[in-house]
Amino acid sequence: MTRTISILGATGSVGASTLDLIRRECETWRVVALTANCSAVELAKLAIEFEAKIAVVGDDACLGDLREALAGTSIEAAGGAQALCDAAARPVDITVAAIVGCAGLAPVMAAIEQGGTIALANKEALVSAGDVMTAAVAKHGATLLPVDSEHNAIFQCLQGNDIEEVRWITLTASGGPFREWTQAQLEAATPKQAVAHPNWDMGAKISVDSATMMNKGLEFIEAHHLFPVGLDRLRIVVHPQSVIHSMVEYRDGSTLAQLGPSDMKVPIASCLAWPKRMETGCEPLDLPAIGELSFFAADEERFPATKLAREAVHAGGAAPATLNAANEVAVAAFLAGQIGFTQIAAMVAETLNNDIQAAPGTLDEVLAVDSDARARAGEVLAEILERD
Ligand code: NAD
Ligand code: MG
Repeated sequence: MTRTISILGATGSVGASTLDLIRRECETWRVVALTANCSAVELAKLAIEFEAKIAVVGDDACLGDLREALAGTSIEAAGGAQALCDAAARPVDITVAAIVGCAGLAPVMAAIEQGGTIALANKEALVSAGDVMTAAVAKHGATLLPVDSEHNAIFQCLQGNDIEEVRWITLTASGGPFREWTQAQLEAATPKQAVAHPNWDMGAKISVDSATMMNKGLEFIEAHHLFPVGLDRLRIVVHPQSVIHSMVEYRDGSTLAQLGPSDMKVPIASCLAWPKRMETGCEPLDLPAIGELSFFAADEERFPATKLAREAVHAGGAAPATLNAANEVAVAAFLAGQIGFTQIAAMVAETLNNDIQAAPGTLDEVLAVDSDARARAGEVLAEILERD
């Protein structure tokens, strides 16, 4: 049986892992839409290889390059934010949502509205939109499958069980590349050091989020929306080997965990084949070679981002969307060499330290909160740059 698929963010790290899996089963899959921000030539190459119906660049200015690279093919080319949503709205069996940041929110919502299955990697979209997204999923009869390795692990551990009987959901965190660094070392950390993750090979933004542990903070909020067990039943534990991807403990004392290699192809394959399984080509887990698994409590003194995220989701209203937007601005400023590593969390805290607006109730309201928070974070950044 053939299945149709669209990949939003096809040129990124999750996009590439998804396309690797599609290559393994090319007789099964028909690619409808592939999107990128502005890597037009790379996107065109993928669209030609996978015989996509349409290729879309989010950045309008790159449409000329895309058209040129697709000349002589029958693949449609389009550009701009609306074109991303129009492509995402084309009916498919499964949409892989792998754009980074809140930029992916409107396309994800368009995909949800066509009522198919969404394999969600784009955690920032769910953190920002929260109930607006989960309500749209219910309204349109869509299915949301988590690609994020922790949430995919939890999803698997919940199968065949009653969520009412969950005592704890434990998100594991690698602790990132700076797990053992002192405060003084953290203050001097460079973008190059921050993006060199010990276990995972990922895009720049999520790699920095891993280093600050904001990634785990965003994942805490993501878990709250995906698995409604209540915030007081969610916890984070540092597990540097990234072998256990997360755990669910039930009221009888049984804990179920999902283990696997640190390769996103495993959770992506779980979504593509769900409820079945598919080959990924990943090396089997060699437990004797791994030797030991260790666990530590998260240190919220050196890594305050998880605390900020927990406080934001407890505060509710517009706080989670504000946290996410401020973090996106701060990470971009860090990657551009404008601020130091420890100023990322400080900038987020400062942006949140304003009156928190009411919870957004529609997509447009979420986008308005996101844009206000970016403006406030921009002011905080300007103050930091003036001071330093
Ligand atoms: P990446 O930076 O490697 O790729 C991002 C993709 O989004 C690219 O195709 C890029 O062209 C596109 N994009 C970026 N900005 C855009 C914009 N403004 N408009 C339209 N398209 C845009 O990122 P990634 O590491 O693949 O991560 C993608 C998402 O998946 C993120 O939300 C991340 O948190 C999540 N995720 C990633 C991993 C991982 O291992 N990489 C693991 C779990 C979750
Ligand atoms: Mg993750």
